[in-house]
Amino acid sequence: MNETDPLILVIEDDPQTRSLLKTNLCNKGWRVIEAEDGKSGILQIKNNNPDLVILDLGLPDLDGISVTKRLRLLSDLPILVLSARSQEQNKIMALDAGADDYLTKPFSIGELHARLQALLRRVKRAGCLEVFQAGELKVDMARRKVFLADVEVHITPIEYRLLAILIRHAGLVVTHRHLLKEVWGIEHIHDQHYLRIYMGQLRHKLEANPTRPRYLLTEVGVGYRLVDDGD
Ligand code: CA
Repeated sequence: MNETDPLILVIEDDPQTRSLLKTNLCNKGWRVIEAEDGKSGILQIKNNNPDLVILDLGLPDLDGISVTKRLRLLSDLPILVLSARSQEQNKIMALDAGADDYLTKPFSIGELHARLQALLRRVKRAGCLEVFQAGELKVDMARRKVFLADVEVHITPIEYRLLAILIRHAGLVVTHRHLLKEVWGIEHIHDQHYLRIYMGQLRHKLEANPTRPRYLLTEVGVGYRLVDDGD
């Protein structure tokens, strides 16, 4: 382990989950620091400047949404929230407050690694992604052109904007609210039917089987996730 390995802060009051996370992240070669409540978590961020935060939504002092809001005032670092099944609404609020993605407990280690890799990749390539590729889907970001198995697919400007946002967050969930705000503006954040229509069109153009999408996945009740094949 050395200084250049990603430093991950785990904010979680349950010792069992914390030790499970620590063991698995250390096995992966990542460095781990821990906090058992929101206030000490925020302090750890100020003092240790971690690369990523795993934040449990149910903490004894501050709730995860307040922690997310406070963290966002301090830093742009990636936040992965852990939520129990009973915290569906909190999970969406945390995402809207600036968390980047979530895992629902109980989660598999495979899912955990995939989410963390996607978050760390997002940071690494922020602003400088020229070509996005996943399977047969290729998007030339500079020329705003989309290809499927090397054949150009014609998409409309709105479809492109939707796709570009999902690409910026590849592998991560993007909430309905976030997409509506970025593409149509704040006055349309409740017009979910816009998304259904345009995502339907995109799937028709990009998916072999639009009803069983391979690239543009639905996160029920939350938003959409573009598959990220890795680097
Ligand atoms: Ca908890």
